[in-house]
Amino acid sequence: MTNNRLSETATERAGPTLVRWYRARRRVFPWRTERPDPYAVLVSEVMLQQTQAATVIPRYIKWMERFPTITELADADLEEALRYWQGLGYYSRARRLHETARMVRDHYHGRLPDDLKTLQQLPGIGIYTAGAVSSIAFEREAPALDVNATRVISRYGALAPPIHTADLHAIWTGWSQNTSARDYCEALIELGATVCTATQPRCAECPIRRWCRGAATGSPEVYTPRPETPRTVDRIYVCLVAQVPYGVAVRRRDPDGIWGDLWTFPETLVESAEEPEKAARRLARSLGAVMLTDLDYLSSLRYRVTRYRITLHAYQLQWTSAPKCEKDVESYVIRSWRDVMELPMPSPHARLRSLVSPPPASVYIEG
Ligand code: SF4
Repeated sequence: MTNNRLSETATERAGPTLVRWYRARRRVFPWRTERPDPYAVLVSEVMLQQTQAATVIPRYIKWMERFPTITELADADLEEALRYWQGLGYYSRARRLHETARMVRDHYHGRLPDDLKTLQQLPGIGIYTAGAVSSIAFEREAPALDVNATRVISRYGALAPPIHTADLHAIWTGWSQNTSARDYCEALIELGATVCTATQPRCAECPIRRWCRGAATGSPEVYTPRPETPRTVDRIYVCLVAQVPYGVAVRRRDPDGIWGDLWTFPETLVESAEEPEKAARRLARSLGAVMLTDLDYLSSLRYRVTRYRITLHAYQLQWTSAPKCEKDVESYVIRSWRDVMELPMPSPHARLRSLVSPPPASVYIEG
């Protein structure tokens, strides 16, 4: 990084200064403890991927109450783990965490390995998560460059795009000298989350401002890495909450697709120029059951799944009998409402479930 070389003072003093600032100002989180448990660090790091800390906190607490050790997670059903993940989205993270727990139970005597390479061989643990677990839980010097840490370093070194990993690592390594690996890792992420933020860096409050080349230019935002964001695609779906006297139609989704292994009500994509209600009738016909009541509009929800911006129009109806599922919808089954209330569902379908009143418990018949 010839053109980006920083002075020795800048590299050597910035790290300890940053750690002192962190120790004095750090925010309190349930996963930040004096002696972090490696499994707890892993859970928090996986939950915090693409999810705000405020959303994670209550789910993390509930998760750790139910699965306090990696072995207890490994011994639990995947379905239960997915249910405890509800509200965090990106459910493949929960599936891989569960898979990792089983590998650790079966091959590592229930203890997470402490070296970077072995950690990266476990499902769902990429280079960042492995670095964070190594640094925070095992006090190993390992770069953990999430989006926050990367932004701080890029601005600090005024690294112009395209940013090379070697340049980021050079600054990271310079700062890490003579500091606690755990606090250094947390400090860098904390600075990016609270001071050197994506849209408005607050340089006046920054502990390392005096050495920051980005701030010296007066426009540190210029050095913000901008990952390519995929084009947003709009999609309209319809969904049926279709009840028979003893239950409701649901399906478990393909493990490799979106919302893998979660349960949803029947749904279909609305074709271009098709009215949502017409699509709902097409879906009801394809399910093949005899309708006892006409479609009744229930609600419309809007949400995002990866790059898709989705509008979901939901209808409810009663059937006289279980649907004779056709080939493309054969995975739908009738489950009792009691079961359905316990199934792990993605947030939009869980919301629909909460809008529909199931029959009173006295008429439940296990289907
Ligand atoms: S001085 Fe400003 S740009 Fe530089 S690291 Fe601090 S907040 Fe970021």
